[in-house]
Amino acid sequence: MNEDQHDHELIPISLVAHHAFCPRRAWLEAMGERTDTHQMAVGTAVHGASDNLAASRASTLRAVEVTSQTLGIVGRCDRLTISDSGAVTVVEHKATPVRRRPEVTEPMVVQVALQVFALRESGMDVHGGAVYFTEHEVTVPVPVGDREHRLALAHVDGVRAVLAAADAPPPLEDDPRCTRCSHADVCLPDERRLAPVRRRILVADPDSQVVHLVTPGSRAATRGGRLKVTQGDRELSSVPLERVEAIVVHGNVDLSSGLVRELLWRDLPIVWCSGSGRVIGWAASATRPNGWPRVRQHVESEKGLLSLARAFVTAKICNQATLLRRRGSASPVSDELRALQRRAAAAASLPELFGIEGDAAARYFAVFSSMLTQKVQDSGLCFTHRDRRPAADPVNAALNYAYGLLTADLIRAVIACGLDPHAGFLHSSKRNKPALALDLAEEFRAPIADSVVLGAFNNGELKASDFTMVSGAARLRQPARRALVEAYERRVNSTFQHPTFGYQVTWRRAMEIQARLVLGVLDGTQPGYRGVMTR
Ligand code: SF4
Repeated sequence: MNEDQHDHELIPISLVAHHAFCPRRAWLEAMGERTDTHQMAVGTAVHGASDNLAASRASTLRAVEVTSQTLGIVGRCDRLTISDSGAVTVVEHKATPVRRRPEVTEPMVVQVALQVFALRESGMDVHGGAVYFTEHEVTVPVPVGDREHRLALAHVDGVRAVLAAADAPPPLEDDPRCTRCSHADVCLPDERRLAPVRRRILVADPDSQVVHLVTPGSRAATRGGRLKVTQGDRELSSVPLERVEAIVVHGNVDLSSGLVRELLWRDLPIVWCSGSGRVIGWAASATRPNGWPRVRQHVESEKGLLSLARAFVTAKICNQATLLRRRGSASPVSDELRALQRRAAAAASLPELFGIEGDAAARYFAVFSSMLTQKVQDSGLCFTHRDRRPAADPVNAALNYAYGLLTADLIRAVIACGLDPHAGFLHSSKRNKPALALDLAEEFRAPIADSVVLGAFNNGELKASDFTMVSGAARLRQPARRALVEAYERRVNSTFQHPTFGYQVTWRRAMEIQARLVLGVLDGTQPGYRGVMTR
């Protein structure tokens, strides 16, 4: 084994401390799941201050790298204080939320004990450790004896076992640690049972947004920590970068290379769409998480996971039936769709499932126009059948555009949890399409995209005059594109009661949760997947 390989296998001491908090959190960290909660930001700021090497003095060393080849661990000490006699004390800096007590926890003991161990191995005369709580400005001594060393070594072994395991560790059950865990929004500890959630851990940043760049000829760049969109000398919009969740570029909009780099640095995806809503491509950070489950995704995609494909189609047909019942006057078709939904749930093969899905789509779109108001139908905006591309009429053009927006959103959700948009379970991975994003889109087509299009026509946001016909294809004019994007954003940012978990959630967050349920099936966290099925 060469030196590089050996270094590669060193385990970060911080990962061992995460294991002491919760083995699953160590797994999530090791898989590269990053979170951006206030708690993490405070921790980073605290370490930023202690990482200032220039502040080192003869009696105080800061940001000292430590390695133990014996244990195979590596880390960094925030501060070493050195007495006149040369005795060293390890001081770890921690931020503590103001109302909580400055209390040394087991993960802190493990972290300090491993730092002490590594320093002693390098020949330093280490007498003890301490934790300095920055909010309270209090230093609490940490005794490091045999008991602490045994505890720390057990957690080093624990991390190795977690990393060597085939599946992710299961989440903790009804454990108070989850309510203060910075990884709860990616872990979803309470959702794994696919049952109503009794407690709600609020973790997702409610203020972040997907930014759509829709003005042709505009340019987006980053300046002073903000995303700025300009056209000539005119500023069209300005958004703080920390509020951006992803960017969707529609048509002819320029992005500066500085902005692209900054977004990828922040792990924020960019999706490019054509003027008709077709997804052209996307860019994702090289450090996105879950590389190993992504490999398993490809293996399972190749083998086929009928249970996932069935769940996608079952939820799609269910939601078509629900939308018809809520908005249309076609109850016989709604009943027929319910029967097809039951058949889809029991389908024995992919070809059978495709047949059921096609049958359901034909019946659904045959009565789709019953969900348009009479006024809309009298205006010449009648819809007779579903045309993909090119769209023969305005309703089909609007549906294409809305499906493009939905696909872009699901590409973002799939990338956010580290999966590959291309490796699907219902849509073929051999067709050079974002198959997994299209799989997940199925259950959201009716409640999001179809609902947005129907609403936009019925309430007059879209009219016949908003479309042009070019070579027999209907196209949205620029104001109509903007109106549809706005209607889509209103919809995905609205909340609904999640049919499985029972809590209120935005449609956009629901998309990411569904992508994470697929991840859970792949990494062994949960036995099955259930689509969002509206009632
Ligand atoms: S949310 Fe709970 S189960 Fe998940 S990593 Fe955090 S502490 Fe562990």
